[in-house]
Amino acid sequence: MGTYLSRAFLDDPDVDSGETLLDPDLHTLAKYIESVEEASHLERERDEVWEEMLEMENLLGWAFLQGQDDTLHVLSLQLKYQKLEKQKEELTSKAEEVRKKGELKLSTGPLGSLLDPVLKEFNVRRQSYHSQAFVGNHVNTMLKEAPIKRLTSIATSKAQQLVEQQDMPLAVFTRARALQDRYERLFTLFAECHSKYSHAKPVSDEDISSLDRSIKDLMSFYRTSFPQGTVPIKMHLLEVHAVPWMQRRGFGLGFFGEQGIETTHAQFNNIQRATGGIRDETKRLKVTLERHLLKMCPTRVGGIPAPNPRKSTN
Ligand SMILES: [Zn+2]
Repeated sequence: MGTYLSRAFLDDPDVDSGETLLDPDLHTLAKYIESVEEASHLERERDEVWEEMLEMENLLGWAFLQGQDDTLHVLSLQLKYQKLEKQKEELTSKAEEVRKKGELKLSTGPLGSLLDPVLKEFNVRRQSYHSQAFVGNHVNTMLKEAPIKRLTSIATSKAQQLVEQQDMPLAVFTRARALQDRYERLFTLFAECHSKYSHAKPVSDEDISSLDRSIKDLMSFYRTSFPQGTVPIKMHLLEVHAVPWMQRRGFGLGFFGEQGIETTHAQFNNIQRATGGIRDETKRLKVTLERHLLKMCPTRVGGIPAPNPRKSTN
């Protein structure tokens, strides 16, 4: 938003940039915009130096081709080149530093700070670790119609206020409105899938084909409305593997927890205590994996044990 504001609106002579940035929600952007501008200035300077370096590389190439390896001409070119190289490095790290200093945190930006009150309203908290993601139950809470509507309308109501009070161009509002529609639809489509796989109940063929349709709807909307978007691993798991998995097991993904991984993790730690002394990395890994296989292999440990019958208490 900051970059968009600085490029599209603050350059506009009709917009008083000083006054706009005094807005109680926008003033957090002032520092950011300043650093973006300072950094791009430094980067332009760096690119000029770089161009000069490329030219010099060509000159050096010619000199070598003509056999002038040890001449004064070549030596002075090399010295100049080294100087430019140093200059370029300095400008690069300076620009990086400036960008970093002005960086906006998700939770302190003008829109990000409006999200938290809505989450609080629904008793949902972001985790301070795990890059501020939500825990499972909070996901269930937020994937309902009302929370989705409240959350996705934030940008639009802020934009409306900006247009009315700050004389910002109407385009700010139209853009925010389009964003709202897109995300509201995306979250709603995802919520549909989520409710159909996130449980530990048995599923019928009909349940599965209904999930299949929801996933296809979600993915085709995502691909057309977010053409620049990539498909992260979890989304791929949903698109390609969720339906076949549920078909095979006959249940929702609810049993598919993290507990199994945690046990395996402990087993590996145990084995590694013994194999840690092996110097060669590949050998160490091989022995570790073999030991784990020996420990776990059902044909060795006598097959998969039958479940313990539950003792009746009455
Ligand atoms: Zn896959």
